[in-house]
Amino acid sequence: MQWPGTPVEHLSRFQPHFCPRRGCPEHLRREPGFRFRRLGYYVTRRRWKIPRFVCLTCRRSFSRQSFAVSYYSKRPELLVPVAAGLVAGSAHRQLARAFGCAPSTVDRMAARLGRHAILLLARARLELAGLVR
Ligand SMILES: [Zn+2]
Repeated sequence: MQWPGTPVEHLSRFQPHFCPRRGCPEHLRREPGFRFRRLGYYVTRRRWKIPRFVCLTCRRSFSRQSFAVSYYSKRPELLVPVAAGLVAGSAHRQLARAFGCAPSTVDRMAARLGRHAILLLARARLELAGLVR
């Protein structure tokens, strides 16, 4: 298994390895061979030229952001500093005051980072058990 070394948002030639739709048969694909087609780009105020794709199994479209930790995040620049603050033991309200955001923003980011940590732990356990190549 190749561990991601670069955030998905920074990959210039990103290619999806599975369909992000939970109901699609390709969602749990672990082997290479996911069939998709490029579907142009879209632009936001913070990011430009985010590639879109369409799954050739379920015919639903998705973008590179569907695989990113900053998916639907309004303040993606705060993810790393909030994670560092949480690891250092700072309180949510204290982090919110330091970064100039609402405490609920830190609450949601902590939950998001926790979900990603659970996914990372699950992947690590599968690899240690030898269930993933
Ligand atoms: Zn699909």
